[in-house]
Amino acid sequence: MQKETTKILQKLSELEKEGGGLPLLLVFYRGLLQIQASVEKRIIKPEPRITREVICQRIRKGQPILSFDNLALDHNLVQELFVEVIATFNSYPQLFGELPKKLLKPGAGRLLTKKAIRAWFTENELPATIQDGVGENLMSAIIHATLQPFLAGHSEVLKNTIDYENWRRGYCPICGGSPDFSYLDKERGSRYLLCSHCDTEWVFKRLECPFCGCQNPYALNYTTDDKGLYRLYTCRDCGRYLKAIDLRKTEEDILFPLERLLTIDMDRQVREKDFEK
Ligand SMILES: [Zn+2]
Ligand SMILES: [Zn+2]
Repeated sequence: MQKETTKILQKLSELEKEGGGLPLLLVFYRGLLQIQASVEKRIIKPEPRITREVICQRIRKGQPILSFDNLALDHNLVQELFVEVIATFNSYPQLFGELPKKLLKPGAGRLLTKKAIRAWFTENELPATIQDGVGENLMSAIIHATLQPFLAGHSEVLKNTIDYENWRRGYCPICGGSPDFSYLDKERGSRYLLCSHCDTEWVFKRLECPFCGCQNPYALNYTTDDKGLYRLYTCRDCGRYLKAIDLRKTEEDILFPLERLLTIDMDRQVREKDFEK
């Protein structure tokens, strides 16, 4: 994890030199990565409260390994990072607008209660105390950026305990999060999905929508860019889309978390056609 962050920061420096600067979104992302990285060093290897037997059972039943109660979170450290993440978002009003003062006051970390984390993790509505004046989408993005290094730490510990042959689901086998990026592997062009919450990767059918399970070839579609490097999968049944990179078309070392942002124009274009992430 640490190694990947270092690689991403190096790649961003290269892009900056090549282009004589970086787009604002990437400058923001670099700031975010730096504070996430400083916390990563302090995250003690989480020992999720779960046995190997339960892991196998859950995978067989199609349940993600971690429920909220299985998470091993250092709540003080989570709140500390939350405050720093807010400060980073607040430095880019051009991207995110003005944040309400209550988020910038000392002690704002306390707004991120266990209840709020649970709501975010289980994709339920966030408590009013934390989203008032911010909006649910933006607050969700702030909580996401706060919890990402913690959840990625869980994935690091758990990803080798899973029998992926028994997992052909559209959601993450570790945390249950939805995919927000995918890739076709070099060897056979198999499609792997990437969890938006914890970066776990798992193989999934190419001709099935991970969001609604649709397999109807008339509803599913994909388009590619000029070089055939990127793909955009869309589903007319549920109206959602997924970006992909085809690793057979490149020799470069691809950093998926960075690719999510480098392909932001694809999001813009597909949203104009009324598809959702
Ligand atoms: Zn996950
Ligand atoms: Zn669908």
